[in-house]
Amino acid sequence: MRVAEVSIEAIHHNVRRISEVTSGGQIIVVVKACGYGHGAVIAAEAAMSGGATMIATADLEEALQLRDAGVTAPLLCWLHGPRVDFAPAISASIEVGVSRLSHLEALAAAAKELGTTATLQFKVDTGLSRNGAAKEEWETLFARGAELEREGLVRVRGIFSHLANAGEEADHAQGEVFDEAVRMLREAGSEPEMIHLAASAATFSRPKLHYNTVRVGLAAYGLSPFVEKTSAQLGLVPAMTLRSEIVALRGVPAGTGVSYGFNHVCEVATTLALVPIGYADGMPRALNGNGAWVTIAGEPRPIVGRIGMDQFIVDVGPLAGRVELGEPVVLFGDPERGYPAIEVWSRLMRTINYEILVGIGPRVIRQAAE
Ligand SMILES: *Cc1c(COP(=O)(O)O)cnc(C)c1O
Repeated sequence: MRVAEVSIEAIHHNVRRISEVTSGGQIIVVVKACGYGHGAVIAAEAAMSGGATMIATADLEEALQLRDAGVTAPLLCWLHGPRVDFAPAISASIEVGVSRLSHLEALAAAAKELGTTATLQFKVDTGLSRNGAAKEEWETLFARGAELEREGLVRVRGIFSHLANAGEEADHAQGEVFDEAVRMLREAGSEPEMIHLAASAATFSRPKLHYNTVRVGLAAYGLSPFVEKTSAQLGLVPAMTLRSEIVALRGVPAGTGVSYGFNHVCEVATTLALVPIGYADGMPRALNGNGAWVTIAGEPRPIVGRIGMDQFIVDVGPLAGRVELGEPVVLFGDPERGYPAIEVWSRLMRTINYEILVGIGPRVIRQAAE
């Protein structure tokens, strides 16, 4: 009854588009948080078959789950707790983003224990003030990295940082700080193969910050990181179509109250359709009464009455007689195909498309479609 259909074709298209925008640079596709709600395995496989170089997650656990599911792509993860055990990462050939000395030492110790070499990429903070080594730590961190490289315990494969998207000037200032980190890393004696700063927003707006690799999440799924630009304007195709179906239809007279609290009362006699997706599935309850709509039989129809945990109601009005039980209902998808854009929801909810995507709940089945 609840399906997030994921178009592999759209992800392929988006990866190609990102490649075009970055003049063929390497592309790391981020599949953290269950592939931005699309399903991490579906997203990782589609990204790789579409031409990505590498797959990234935030947590090591997420990367290990991908390996367990049979994903053989190069993997990178970068957000670690203080007691993280890197041995499983090394055994599963997962590259580790390292942003502090204690993690570097833990990684090297695990590699030594396993009698092998761990591959890492340094994550540096260039102004976002989140995880990433602070500037004062770079010299010590890079020197130790180079030393451990000479000992054969680690391989320093890359260096990366993340932008605050705080405007053109601020982004370029971060770029300069990043350049300095890259210079210092080389001076310490390491030669990074992958150098990356841009995520989706900078991929489409800061060509000077592409380096030899970009690290994108949202754009690979076909959505725009900019409120003022649509997917189509960026040449992207939204990959997810959130679908359900009509499970009940009821003709009602004028004056009928709808759902909890009767905050919607039908002004005229109409037909109500019941759709089995609710706020447990990531459909925000606060969408109600705000003009949100769905597509049924190619027509936009309004969501009416309060959204429940498992279900909501649509006034199908003039479609009565043309729709039956089982009729598909599209909650959001590619607006070029006449579906509501996910941004209708994010705008009404005063949030960003990212948050809506990752909020799609576990009862919604992720289904790959060509
Ligand atoms: C989530 C994340 C990304 C991807 O960001 P998008 O805006 O979705 O492209 C890239 N890098 C880091 C460090 C992230 O945490």
